[in-house]
Amino acid sequence: MPQTITVKVKLLPTREQASILADMGKEYISVINSLVSEMITEKKSTKKTTKDVPGHLPSAVKNQAIKDAKSVFTTKVKKSKYTVIPVLQKPVCVWNNQNYSFDFTHIHLPLMIDGKAKKVPVRALLIDKHNRNFELLKHKLGTLRITKKSNKWVAQISVTIQTNESTGTKIMGVDLGLKVPAVAVTDDGKTRFFGNGRQNKYVKRIFKSKRKKLGKLKKVHAIINMDDKEQRYMKDQDHKVSRAIVNFAKDNHISVIRLERLANIRQTARTSRKNEKNLHTWSFYRLSQFIEYKANLAGIKVEYVNPAYTSQTCPKCSERNKAQDRKYKCKCGFETHRDKVGAMNIRYAPVVGGNSQSA
Ligand SMILES: [Zn+2]
Repeated sequence: MPQTITVKVKLLPTREQASILADMGKEYISVINSLVSEMITEKKSTKKTTKDVPGHLPSAVKNQAIKDAKSVFTTKVKKSKYTVIPVLQKPVCVWNNQNYSFDFTHIHLPLMIDGKAKKVPVRALLIDKHNRNFELLKHKLGTLRITKKSNKWVAQISVTIQTNESTGTKIMGVDLGLKVPAVAVTDDGKTRFFGNGRQNKYVKRIFKSKRKKLGKLKKVHAIINMDDKEQRYMKDQDHKVSRAIVNFAKDNHISVIRLERLANIRQTARTSRKNEKNLHTWSFYRLSQFIEYKANLAGIKVEYVNPAYTSQTCPKCSERNKAQDRKYKCKCGFETHRDKVGAMNIRYAPVVGGNSQSA
């Protein structure tokens, strides 16, 4: 099954290239915004070609902007019966796959230099065989988007890959938690615990006390740096845990991974991260996303289930019990490690609509 995914590559443009990219990004979205508003007035898709469209952009890029504008018009405006009028705000510029090349050290692409399109190399942060994107970027590359994220230039390259979708029926439930970051149980009862909750808690405590000290010294920038460091640490842990989970699934010939659907991720992901509970939802969300991404690459489907009572229900007789200390015990005689129960139930819990959650 072909799958399109986006691979991010950090760019290191020269100062001159950066300013050109910034201008082109603004130009690109302004071309789209004005074409979309024209189409709204005329109530039909545009017939304009690159010659009719003003803007200092290479013609291939302009062509892409026209294509994007048409797609915004059909998929957003027309579909919503003219109730949604999208206006792009964030500068971005897009090249199709015939107009650029990537050689793992540079992206060669046309930029507007002194009013003319000229193909130049823009340096990329080296992608070598130790980089997890190395194998992906050897595939056929699709469109290239360049934009700025947290003040850094990134190339988002779409890559279409052929995955051998697993046709089996083996299911694995994965339960995410704090004490144990993840527990997986396959449908033949194989169990594995992933990550180290105690270590994560310890690291978080260290970061917290460092922040407190810096707070007393009023070192705002140092605190922000510390936050970034903690975020990077947690993200790295999530990458490791998700990779291990998917490898475990592959080793056990699993074709479906089931995870709990998180409640109200739309609200919690965007609102305050100060609230402890929100913070946890956010980190479970990220880990779920990493698992889904890596599983899909391996041809494994990810489904989300209703989380109600998954940690209380007896996997054998469906009675609800609260676990006492480390053990989960049921009147029917069933007993097991308390952290296993969630994953066991997630395997067969009702799958909720759609198989992907979005923030
Ligand atoms: Zn029972």
